Amino acid sequence: TVKGRHRNNYLCYNASISEKFEKMLSMDSELRKALKQEQLELHYQPQKSIGTGKIVGLEALIRWNHPDKGMISPATFIPIAEKNGQIIEIGEWVMKEACKQNKQWQDEGFAPVIVGVNLSALQFLQKDLVFRVKQILEETGLAPEYLELEITESMAMTNEEYIIHTLKELRELGVHVSIDDFGTGYSSLKYLSRFPVSKLKIDKVFISENQKQNQAIVKSIIHMSHSLNMKVIAEGVETAEQWNFLKNEKCDEIQGYFYSKPLPPEQLSDVFNSSIVH
Ligand code: C2E
Ligand code: MG
Ligand code: MG
Ligand code: MG
Repeated sequence: TVKGRHRNNYLCYNASISEKFEKMLSMDSELRKALKQEQLELHYQPQKSIGTGKIVGLEALIRWNHPDKGMISPATFIPIAEKNGQIIEIGEWVMKEACKQNKQWQDEGFAPVIVGVNLSALQFLQKDLVFRVKQILEETGLAPEYLELEITESMAMTNEEYIIHTLKELRELGVHVSIDDFGTGYSSLKYLSRFPVSKLKIDKVFISENQKQNQAIVKSIIHMSHSLNMKVIAEGVETAEQWNFLKNEKCDEIQGYFYSKPLPPEQLSDVFNSSIVH
């Protein structure tokens, strides 16, 4: 009957909602366990200077090595951690781990590079962020000029005055700040010029498809960065064709599978060594 069907639909609907809810709850507690049981790890993706061919930086990217489910992508669990607030604790761990690892590579004698850490909005809005960054640098012994914090364009666009104030404090501390996924938001030139950031990271959507329109966007982001005395890096570079285009357009740096995927720390020493040779 019609009534029966309705009831059925209603039940189905309910079941799927509570299923989702249960999944979220279990993700919650599993994520909490993950932090305690050291299931989280960082991989590092090299960033290469187009001019010198040298590695100038590494972006730290979180991985969840789940005991049953294998590697879980940050795209899956970071949004959950942002909703339930665990991103604060996770983010602290990421920053500390990345600084510690970078200092260790320097102590092992590799040419110093900058390590980039992604900040989520909640983390960036923490009142004691600058103090925590300072503490972590002190605890790990990493010099501030070897840490870069990545914020997204959309984060930069809310709470303008507060953000600018925080960015100035971070600059005084000596760390770098870059704007990640640039080009996907709506910031204006006037707006950007007020931001004390050192680098724009062109979002990979503009790199992956070599359409005329995307190339025009990439060119204008490069020119804009340079006219604002900022560096510019292209994300998601996968082909020689893209690399050549970016080189011709005087992009400063590239990051992408064309050069290297994100790698576990133990594989980085090979990359460092080969970068010295070339
Ligand atoms: P993102 O910060 O924009 O990082 C770049 C993403 O592009 C990474 O994905 C990287 O693996 C991927 N990528 C790099 N080169 C290429 C390429 O040539 N082709 C393609 N198709 N992809 C490439 P991943 O590691 O899955 O991270 C996804 C996002 O998760 C990051 O985007 C970032 O927003 C977030 N995330 C990762 N780690 C952290 C973290 O520690 N904290 C926070 N808050 N967010 C993180
Ligand atoms: Mg990033
Ligand atoms: Mg990005
Ligand atoms: Mg991102």
